Amino acid sequence: MRMSKLLMPTLREVPAEAEIASHRLMLRAAMMRKVAAGIYSYLPLGYRVLQKIMQIVREEMDAAGGQEVLLPIVQPAELWHETGRWDDYGEEMFKLIDRHERQFCLGPTHEEITTALVRNEVRSYRQLPLMVYQIQNKYRDEIRPRFGVMRGREFIMKDLYSFDRDEEGLDNSYWTMFHAYERIFARCGLNTRPVEADSGAIGGDQTHEFMAIADAGEAEIVYCSSCDYAANVEKAECLTPPAESTGREEPLVEVATPDVRTIEDLEKFFSRPASEMMKTLIYRGGDQVVAAVLRGDHEVNEIKLARAIGCLEVELADDRTIEEVTGAPRGFAGPIGLKNCKIIADPAVMSIESGIAGGNAVDVHLRGVKPGRDFTPDEIIDIRKAQPGDPCPCGQGVLQGARGIEVGQVFKLGTKYSEPLGATFTDEDGVERPLIMGCYGIGVSRTMAAIIEQCHDDDGICWPITVAPYHVDIVPVSYRDEQQRAAAERIYDELNKAGVEAVIDDRDERPGVKFKDADLIGFPIRITIGPRGLADGQVEVRWRATGEEYLISLNEVVSHVQDRITRAIAQSKCVCTG
Ligand code: ATP
Ligand code: MG
Repeated sequence: MRMSKLLMPTLREVPAEAEIASHRLMLRAAMMRKVAAGIYSYLPLGYRVLQKIMQIVREEMDAAGGQEVLLPIVQPAELWHETGRWDDYGEEMFKLIDRHERQFCLGPTHEEITTALVRNEVRSYRQLPLMVYQIQNKYRDEIRPRFGVMRGREFIMKDLYSFDRDEEGLDNSYWTMFHAYERIFARCGLNTRPVEADSGAIGGDQTHEFMAIADAGEAEIVYCSSCDYAANVEKAECLTPPAESTGREEPLVEVATPDVRTIEDLEKFFSRPASEMMKTLIYRGGDQVVAAVLRGDHEVNEIKLARAIGCLEVELADDRTIEEVTGAPRGFAGPIGLKNCKIIADPAVMSIESGIAGGNAVDVHLRGVKPGRDFTPDEIIDIRKAQPGDPCPCGQGVLQGARGIEVGQVFKLGTKYSEPLGATFTDEDGVERPLIMGCYGIGVSRTMAAIIEQCHDDDGICWPITVAPYHVDIVPVSYRDEQQRAAAERIYDELNKAGVEAVIDDRDERPGVKFKDADLIGFPIRITIGPRGLADGQVEVRWRATGEEYLISLNEVVSHVQDRITRAIAQSKCVCTG
């Protein structure tokens, strides 16, 4: 490709709306342009990267036994009514109405469509297991589209659905996909970690999220320093180490605490650590009101709380409910003397011997609070978020914290969709049984952004060779110079013939501009043709990611870079196949 013809409007300025590196760089390096909130056009360079990622995904899905299909984006409401998700999916679903007043949605995911397809076409155990997948646009009217394509409203996803005859088959499909995901992300040059994740408030099915470790990630994860355990903090189990009793027992005392509101205020006022505070939060879940009691230094995990009371979701109660339950306005709740509400205490609270809690009255706190003596929780259940420093559930290590970008998820669905949609098969004995399903998604466009988060520096993107838009950027210092032009054109021609993806910077620009663009866009290799080297028949090879730089003869450069590229790509495949 000739840069003079390439649609690559790079930007020197940092776009104001972009908060994270990948978003800034995708705009600056001319990978994409915004059309509306969370909706983007990909320019030629960006689309090439996407296609490379899709190709890696496709190769691994095919190798794992997947069959590629293409399902419709526009989906009739009737199918979604059959599973109850037309109403349950919520505001994220883009809905539309056709000229005959029929309702449709733009597919946010394809469980309904796929299951309905399979229920009509698969009858017998002989056709199982079956895995079908597609790579296609998905639509979700996200409440907060942000970070460019990281959280878009239109985005590209690979979604695969597995159909098995029994749990054993599902297990097999699940782990086949799990390992395929490990290979895909490794081949894309991404450092990911599979973490145990929550499968939704109700249900206990197995699921892992693949997290690309990056500070810009929206997810918090914890992992063990001495075993393989890694989990999303929403899911991570919290071990409470047995507390040693000091036998300290203090009387319950009311203390006037005007203007003492936050945990930090309390720490100062009482000169006690947050671990001796009891924070009480009033929640509503369905038609229940619950008080969640946790240590002052712990955070409530709303997913665990919802699960504890058997609800899909909980939300903080409104002011009126708080007044009804505590007898005081918001901000003074404590566990003693609550009315008409269930008290759920986190196990860590129970070992506080003499705590500080809200007094359920304006500007009042209680000192000397002892669980069991002064209040009795209805239930003692783990309802807190794991945090770095906690003991690992393995009992050996300590949990470390990190942030992650969810680039993929694998999920055992069981009969969640096959039952309501009536997708069954007939086994050897002629018995009709529901198909056992799994679903497996990869955010293809999000993966592109995640790669940039992990592979960039102050000058721009450093594409891993496997997903780079082009492998080589040929830069004659002056294209006008006849000798340099001839050498550059010769290299370009030979690279093309050798099947190496190359661009030639044939623009009439200053060398500084060309070098800046090369670094910003992030071609893995730059071949620079300058007057000094040429005098000796040499050109310069520079590797973007490592800064490695050397001279090589004009006659050898093509076979040299071809050889190194071929080896690097081959290596990316064998590293991950073990
Ligand atoms: P999130 O928790 O980030 O909203 P999700 O769990 O709802 O994602 P899934 O339904 O598991 O997403 O979708 C499969 C994959 O699609 C995700 O792992 C993610 O990589 C990608 N994805 C989901 N939502 C978006 C989005 N709004 N923009 C870009 N990629 C997305
Ligand atoms: Mg997910």
